[in-house]
Amino acid sequence: MRIDLHTHSTASDGTDSPAELVAAASRAGLDAVALTDHDTTAGWAEASAALPPGLRLVPGAELSCVSPDGRGGRCSVHLLAYLFDPLAESLIAEQRRLRLERRERLRVMAERMAADGLPVDPDELMAGLPPDGSAGRPHLAVALVRAGVVADVNEAFDRYLASRGPYYVRRADTPVAAAIEMIRNAGGVTVLAHAYAHERGPTVTPEVIGELAASGLGGLEVDHPLHDSTARTELRALAGDLGLLVTGSSDYHGTNKTIELGEETTSAEMFSALVERATGSTVVNA
Ligand code: AMP
Ligand code: FE
Ligand code: FE
Ligand code: ZN
Repeated sequence: MRIDLHTHSTASDGTDSPAELVAAASRAGLDAVALTDHDTTAGWAEASAALPPGLRLVPGAELSCVSPDGRGGRCSVHLLAYLFDPLAESLIAEQRRLRLERRERLRVMAERMAADGLPVDPDELMAGLPPDGSAGRPHLAVALVRAGVVADVNEAFDRYLASRGPYYVRRADTPVAAAIEMIRNAGGVTVLAHAYAHERGPTVTPEVIGELAASGLGGLEVDHPLHDSTARTELRALAGDLGLLVTGSSDYHGTNKTIELGEETTSAEMFSALVERATGSTVVNA
């Protein structure tokens, strides 16, 4: 069984449409794939309708959250959420708030760039964003590539979009404990994404992960392209101590990143345990 539980489509900052993504997952030989767009379930219907025979679809999302970092400060964390009821009202309201905030924030970043003389048109950027989906810095990165300012998305992040850079605007993300509770109330299971991906910025301490486990976190994403072997070893041990599920996933974004589908995978045992705990929605079979 090859199972990849973290991917992005054009419903957020990936480059494959949901239909293209499930087709690519099937070609990559996956048995199950989760669609986890940032702060939206907008891709679920298209992915389900286009699901090739033999592939199972796990409906999910990656929620943008903020957490105490365990050192007296706060940091950004991403919470993977699976098999929750997409019609839960508190969830819909929070995702809508975040999506609007993401759009506005991207416009402000583009306006700052235009004011500095960079060839970025904020109106054109806004017009090209996914209508029901979730906007992110990769959309602005692609605009910079198209304008010839940088050669690729990675260079755009390094030079213009990094969180320590001059154009960065923060989002007001959901407190992670509230997000865990919201997903639990909607019958879903949560997994902390790339918790020790130090190159993304400040990360949480093991103590914070312990607190999240106590408040209902379901698992840790251990095998992730941004985790080195030390990070994986530490997180696997922590998951064992805390009784958390362990997942592995590619965090595929199409051509916005160089990672392939199925480059990291989740074991069949962990997958079954995750599915068993969920009551909010079901795995989709073609
Ligand atoms: P945002 O959600 O708007 O803050 O943008 C963060 C997203 O940008 C992440 O989900 C990644 O998909 C992407 N990202 C972050 N750093 C890079 C990078 N160096 N190269 C390509 N994509 C990146
Ligand atoms: Fe992303
Ligand atoms: Fe993430
Ligand atoms: Zn992701």
